[in-house]
Formats: sequence, structure tokens, C-alpha cells
Amino acid sequence: MNFSLEGRTYVVMGVANKRSIAWGIARSLHEAGARLIFTYANDRFEQPVKDLAETLEGQNALFYECDVTNDQEVSNTFAKIKQDVGTIHGLAHCIAFANKEDLQGEFVDTSRDGFLLAHNISSYSLVVTAKAAAPLMTEGGGIVTLTYLGGERVVKNYNVMGVAKASLDASMKYLANDLGKHGVRVNAISAGPIRTLSAKGIGDFNSVLKKIEEEAPLRRTITQEEVGDSAYYLLSDLSRGVTGEIIHVDAGYNILGLS
Ligand code: NAD
Repeated sequence: MNFSLEGRTYVVMGVANKRSIAWGIARSLHEAGARLIFTYANDRFEQPVKDLAETLEGQNALFYECDVTNDQEVSNTFAKIKQDVGTIHGLAHCIAFANKEDLQGEFVDTSRDGFLLAHNISSYSLVVTAKAAAPLMTEGGGIVTLTYLGGERVVKNYNVMGVAKASLDASMKYLANDLGKHGVRVNAISAGPIRTLSAKGIGDFNSVLKKIEEEAPLRRTITQEEVGDSAYYLLSDLSRGVTGEIIHVDAGYNILGLS
């Protein structure tokens, strides 16, 4: 069987800089031969994303601004993509946000606005983009989102983002059920902690990384490339029988109990 992605087109949402998990996914898909479409939140990210994409040899990427809090912008973006390329074969949703003050201290102090903001950008955005993107997957396709252990268990300082990830995980499963009949699979990767722009907002992130290095079965943290390769698996025919699944790419940390 040929698992090359040549002749296939994938939308990658959420590249902010070279540390972004979305960038690791973009590189893996590029290496497998895919054509890439990048979306970015606002014009601040346009040039950095274009500069990064330039480094992908032979890649003829397309770029669209898409703020996922704006329904009209999401639907316009995918209408433009349909006009420009027709069919797409998959989408990587690598988007999350919460106020910094809600990523420290106690979850009980989360404000209503902070709660809604985190859920709007980090969870509902998967629903609205899946609805807009799935009709373009006329040959079948895959959607992958990025989640974290803090949605399954209580993780210090992760607070409202953990609750938003629980909502994202459930949304992923409901979407998998709705879209499966159209040949669209929806899965999540639960990545171990990686130092990115978003991770900077989480209180005491360095000690989280240290704990993983000391305790995870593989005794190390993971890389964007490792997440990228798992996303390639989930977005290619290698995983054609898999949907509604959360794959932990976390050096095994999630299996641990008390020690
Ligand atoms: P990142 O900061 O590089 O990426 C987050 C992206 O979300 C940015 O590109 C940002 O522009 C985008 N974004 C925020 N608000 C947006 C909006 N309104 N519209 C469109 N885009 C918007 O950080 P990352 O760590 O690569 O995060 C990617 C995903 O991976 C997130 O869902 C994050 O929760 C998840 N994740 C990260 C880690 C980690 O340790 N870094 C671990 C597990 C899961």
C-alpha cells in the first residue's frame, strides 16, 4: 500500500512560529508529499507563516486569514479554499487560547468571561471549522485536533484550559459520529508538554517539563516532529479504520498512577 500524500491537500490551522505544534504537523505532511494550506489568526501572523512555508522545498502553499471566533470569516475562508483548490483531504486544528490569569492559581476563581473565551477559541472552533471543512472532503478525509491530559485529569495551573480540552475531546467524538457517514474521520492527539508560545502562558511550565523528564516511561519530553508524524498517521490511510480516538503522544506519561 502507498501511504504517500502526493496529490492530497491539507489545511493546517495554528502556525504561530517555528515552535508551534502546527508547524511540526506541516513539516510531516510536506515530507509525505502533501500540498499545504495555512490559516492564521490575524495579519500579525501572516508574514511569519509565509516565511516558514518558504523553507518547505517545492511546496506551493496557500494562505488565508481565519479568526476562528468569527463564524462568517470561517465560512468565507473555506468558501475561498473551495474556489481555489476544490477538494481537500484533511485539516489539522491546532488552536487554543485562555487568559493568562486563568492559567495559574485555582480553577474556582475562573471568571465567566475567561471560561467562555477559553471554550470559544479552544473548543467551539473545532465544531465550526469541521462544519465548514467537511463538505470540501469529497474524497473522504481526516480532521485532527490537539488536546492535553489536563482535559482528562486535574493538572496544576491548567485550570480552565483543562475544562475546555474536556469539551474539545467530547466535541471531537460527537463530530466523529456525525461526519463518519461522509467518510470523514475525526481524531485527537494528546501531546505531552512542549515549549511553545501558548505554553508560555501556563504557570510553572518548566517544572512540568522537568517532571516528565524524570517520570515519563520514556524519561524525556516529546517534540513537534513526533506529534507531526502521529498527525500524518491520523490524516493518512494508515489510520483508515480509526475515528473518535485520542492518541497520547506524551512519552507514556498518561499511563502513570501513584509511585
Ligand atoms: P502555539 O501558540 O504555537 O499555537 C496556538 C495557535 O492558536 C496560534 O497559532 C494562535 O494564533 C492560534 N489562535 C489563537 N486564537 C486564535 C483565533 N481566534 N483564531 C485562529 N487562531 C487562533 O502553541 P501550541 O502549543 O503549538 O498549540 C497548538 C495546540 O496544541 C493547542 O490546541 C494547544 O492547546 C495544544 N497543545 C499544546 C501542548 C503544549 O505543551 N505546547 C500540549 C498539548 C496540546
